[in-house]
Amino acid sequence: MNTSSPLLPNYLAGRWQTGSGPGALLRDPVLGTELARVSNGGLDLIEGFAFAREQGGRALRAMTYAERAAMLAATAQVLQSHRDAYYEIATANSGTTAKDSAVDIDGGLFTLGYYAKQGEALGDVRFMLDGPAARMAKDPTFQSQHIMVPTHGVALFINAFNFPSWGLWEKAAPALLSGVPVIIKPATATAWLTQRMVQDVIDAGVLPAGALSVVCGSSNGLMDALQPFDVLSFTGSAETAHVIRSHRAVAAQSVRVNIEADSLNSALLAPGTAADSEVFKLLVSEVVREMTVKAGQKCTAIRRIFVPAALYDAAAQAISAKLAGVTVGNPRNASVRMGSLVSREQLGAVQAGLAQLRTEAEVLHDGASHTLVDADPAIAACVGPTLLGTRHPDAARVLHEVEVFGPVATLMPYASLDEALGLIRRGQGSLVTSVYGDDPAFIADAALELASSHGRVHAISPDVAALHSGHGNVMPMSLHGGPGRAGGGEELGGLRALNFYHRRSAVQASIAALKRLGTA
Ligand code: NAP
Repeated sequence: MNTSSPLLPNYLAGRWQTGSGPGALLRDPVLGTELARVSNGGLDLIEGFAFAREQGGRALRAMTYAERAAMLAATAQVLQSHRDAYYEIATANSGTTAKDSAVDIDGGLFTLGYYAKQGEALGDVRFMLDGPAARMAKDPTFQSQHIMVPTHGVALFINAFNFPSWGLWEKAAPALLSGVPVIIKPATATAWLTQRMVQDVIDAGVLPAGALSVVCGSSNGLMDALQPFDVLSFTGSAETAHVIRSHRAVAAQSVRVNIEADSLNSALLAPGTAADSEVFKLLVSEVVREMTVKAGQKCTAIRRIFVPAALYDAAAQAISAKLAGVTVGNPRNASVRMGSLVSREQLGAVQAGLAQLRTEAEVLHDGASHTLVDADPAIAACVGPTLLGTRHPDAARVLHEVEVFGPVATLMPYASLDEALGLIRRGQGSLVTSVYGDDPAFIADAALELASSHGRVHAISPDVAALHSGHGNVMPMSLHGGPGRAGGGEELGGLRALNFYHRRSAVQASIAALKRLGTA
């Protein structure tokens, strides 16, 4: 390894600390060049966590929700002023086009701004009421009032590589607004953007000491530093999620954990749709968008597409024709629409996953047919979009179980709506499903059927064609997370996100005491 590339410092215990050893290398996934190294070797994690818990937590809890909301607004302003640098880092380290970098960078800023506004409305208080006081006997003098108070611990975030900006801020905004200090451990492959954003915010002095820390590199020892009142929010693969759930901190100390894992999201075209209808076109465009945005490296991307059996061939042709027009390669070339995967390792994982899916599917559009623009196939982690298909989705197993985290989706026909709903549920719980139809009754019925196995149901009909937020876009006012294999987590959803960082307690007391709480 060329150890001349800079070692990014960590920020822990209120000071910048450089890890020991050569560290792990971050590369440009298109050019293959070395960008930076990360290491947290030799850092005293116990000291760092204690500093955040005690100093950061105390300072944040002394502020009101409105004051913390103003702090979020100031944070967003700082980030806004460095936006150009973030785009450069994203191009270099994530291999994304400007449009795809925006999903991550501007998505993060938008989410911060959203919580700044929501928090302002909570006002100058330091805890929240949970419903009205309840009598516990005939005599009203002694009652029970549920309250929500910020947990006296740290929020540790262990994040995935695909959203180094949004992944930080969508979690940090509700945590900081709640009064809980944040320690972020970004995924190593793309840690640079997260580290740089934290650096800019720390340098600007808009947060109290200990409110925000960043530890780059290995995850070793992070979970050992957790204590019972800490919380852990993890985003990543189901495999790592399993390791997290089995850790002593979670299993024995009840550290509260939120898990966002992988997901076999689906799209459903309404029965009876015609191939020349607006609804059909909407499905085709959304599928192509979802397959290609961030080169399919979105946990919410459409992986399985369900169409009425009579439309299988028409859908295969229409989606393939659009995919054929997608230019793939170096995001610095203005003609490129889809950049690269985040690393050669990821490219290997996508190719291995594709080989698995192909044991049960035919290739309708082959990503290998795309000539890379300004990128050397021997070096770049670029891959064209591939549409697979099977005429026998019921007999398939791998297609409903294996998530290929890249520009890959599988088309599947269904004979009846019941069959389609059953096949969708074979994803074992997903983050999102989208339904395409022009009959409000169909949409409402499908939503009710799919809600129990999906964190979000996104319905696209011609009347919202130009308005909808996109199948894969996670908006802060809507829930993000899904049951079962999607991890069982819940994030965002407006102020619901604050619940994770608060503890609920029932105060049973005289009405006089409850009045002092400002409640009775
Ligand atoms: P990953 O390999 O599970 O890594 C996720 C994070 O966990 C990284 O920061 C990683 O650090 C860390 N990690 C690895 N081993 C660990 C351990 N034993 N203990 C604690 N932390 C550990 O996942 P990924 O490859 O980065 O991300 C892709 C996956 O994430 C996909 O499956 C995708 O579906 C899922 N994802 C889900 C969502 C969602 O919201 N549901 C969003 C994005 C991605 P290192 O990088 O240093 O190894």
